[in-house]
Amino acid sequence: MSDRTSYAYFEGKIVPIEEAKVSIMTHALNYGTGVFEGIRAYWNQEHNQLYVLKGPEHYERMLQSCRILKIHLDQNIDQMMNVTLQILRQTGYQEDVYIRPLAYKADPLIKVKLSGMRDELAIFTVPLGEYLDVNKGLHIGVSPWRRLDDNAIPTRAKATGSYINTALAVDDLMDSGFDDGVMLTPDGHVAEGTAANLFMIRGGKLITSPVSDAILEGITRALLLDIAQDAGFQVEIRPIDRTELYVADELFLCGTGVQVAPVTKVDHRPVGDGRPGDKTLTLQKLYFDAVRGYNPAYQHWLTPVYPENR
Ligand code: PMP
Repeated sequence: MSDRTSYAYFEGKIVPIEEAKVSIMTHALNYGTGVFEGIRAYWNQEHNQLYVLKGPEHYERMLQSCRILKIHLDQNIDQMMNVTLQILRQTGYQEDVYIRPLAYKADPLIKVKLSGMRDELAIFTVPLGEYLDVNKGLHIGVSPWRRLDDNAIPTRAKATGSYINTALAVDDLMDSGFDDGVMLTPDGHVAEGTAANLFMIRGGKLITSPVSDAILEGITRALLLDIAQDAGFQVEIRPIDRTELYVADELFLCGTGVQVAPVTKVDHRPVGDGRPGDKTLTLQKLYFDAVRGYNPAYQHWLTPVYPENR
């Protein structure tokens, strides 16, 4: 892969990635006024095909983030998907890929505001394997850094600047010896992981926090709720207390990067019997089969990158 040229969409054109450069005066670089997405494409060796997972849904969420930050793009969802497929084809990937669209305030302006600026769209891609371990079971801690408040920096918007909150939490958790962590809402409920949503199994039910508890409205979260319901799980969306994590039967994190990662310890306490839970592993298998194109029932979540019979 390393000898291949990687391409990016930048200022209206597809260019070699080294040419996609911004000025140090760019508003988004100075003030964090950008929004982004993280999309995965999964390589299926048997099908000789690369599948983009939930591409239109990610672009739809990006347009929602844009509304919150008053970013106006010329491109619609179809156009952004087409550019994405073009970049992937042009780079010629035959491996798992991470796609990073970024919409940002591009003017070289020294003034903190949102309106009246030039907005740009960039899209680049990188090969990506696992972001967190999905096999061993993670040891997570509850972060002393609280998740952002909707009335301060809305977590519903996947904004570049808001990831300072994530970075502070992740570094602190890693320094304390955890693999990752959980962030609490300003009023002390479980919000989500640092860059992932959280699910717990308690009393046989699959439970996750509501969208009003300072989470990013995860595409994987929604996808897993669908998979779980199809598989006959009872699901519940409700606020989760911190100590419920200590008495949960199973826990896992989920997200585009994280995928489905079992958690086996929280704040030094074992989750259940301290091994990845059976229900978690069932959902994880259903997830991986779906995203790699092995489950026809979920094929509509995938966009093939390469033409058939090439
Ligand atoms: N929460 C945060 C803060 C995230 O950064 C992510 C990753 N995008 C998620 C949740 C999971 O969202 P998704 O499943 O859409 O990737």
